[in-house]
This record gives sequence, structure tokens and C-alpha cells, in this order.
Amino acid sequence: MPAAWESLIHDVPDYPTPGVMFKDITPLLADHDAFAAVVEALAAAGRDADGNVVVDKVVGMEARGFILAAPVALALGAGFVPVRKVGKLPRATHAVNYSLEYGEATLELHTDAIAPGERVLLVDDVLATGGTVAATRELVSRCGGVPHAVAVLMELTFLPGRDAVGELPLHALCQV
Ligand code: IMP
Repeated sequence: MPAAWESLIHDVPDYPTPGVMFKDITPLLADHDAFAAVVEALAAAGRDADGNVVVDKVVGMEARGFILAAPVALALGAGFVPVRKVGKLPRATHAVNYSLEYGEATLELHTDAIAPGERVLLVDDVLATGGTVAATRELVSRCGGVPHAVAVLMELTFLPGRDAVGELPLHALCQV
């Protein structure tokens, strides 16, 4: 049975380009109970079976990933790290080019954002083609971090995003 919050994700046809069915999570974010339930469920990806926190950092991908990853980091007692679009981070960065469902882009991460050996949970709203997750994994690895798992609100199963996640555990709260 779908969780109550799933009905708060709205389908927007032909946005941002014709042929794309955009999943709008803003109604879910505006509902406190739904937002809290989603954050808690995503944070479970950073705990072991006994409930112990097993990650040091939570990485969120610009822009909606920030909204989810920051409260997940607080819930876990971990640090929050933003992965940003090119040119937005002020200090030395690693940069990776990637393909989007609708376009191409570059993501960046501060070179000192993750210490070598730190375990990292990747959090985003939607897993589509997987390009964003693949680029973020690469950025985390370039810092010497150890990707622990990927947690997303929604996996679009008609796209090959899961392949980009590879051997990492994927926690998708719902699938479309
Ligand atoms: P991917 O790189 O193709 O997996 O796309 C995932 C990224 O694009 C995520 O950062 C999402 O925020 C964004 N994205 C792709 N499709 C949607 C959508 O339908 N709704 C909201 N965000 C989306």
C-alpha cells in the first residue's frame, strides 16, 4: 500500500521540456508530517540493522537534494555536504561532467568537503537516468570518501538509474 505522502507528489506533464513528466515534491514538503516521515525514512539508509549511524557525511545534490539531505544529516548527527552545479562553490573543487534526463551539466564538490575514509550517504529526490548519482559517486571517490548508499524519494523505474548506482545499496522510498 502506498505511503500517505505519495499522493502529495504531483505529476506535471511536459515540464521542463515536452515529453517529460516532472514529479513535483513541493506539496509534500509543505506538509509537516509527510516531510518528517520522508526524512526519517531516508535517514534509515544511514543506519545499520541495530539503528547505529554508520555514515559521517550526507551529500545532497543541487537543488532538491539539499532540501532532503540537510535534515537527514541532522537526524543522523552527520555533516551535510552540498554537491553543486558548476561555478557555485567558492573554493577549490573536483568537477565531473554528466548527462541529465533533459540535458548535460557539470557537478562540483569542494575538495576538502569529505575526508579520506569518511563514509558517505548520497541523498536526492528523484533517481532518473542515474547521471547525477554516478557523477556524485565519482566526486565523493575523488575526495577519498567511501560511498555507503544512495537514498532517494522516488525511483523512475522506466529509466536505467539503478544501473548507475551499481553495487551500492539503493533505498528508494517509492518507485514509479
Ligand atoms: P538523473 O541524473 O537523470 O538521475 O536525474 C536526477 C536529477 O534530476 C535529480 O537531481 C532530480 O532532482 C532531477 N529530476 C529528474 N527528473 C525529475 C523529476 O521528474 N522531478 C524532479 N526532479 C527530477
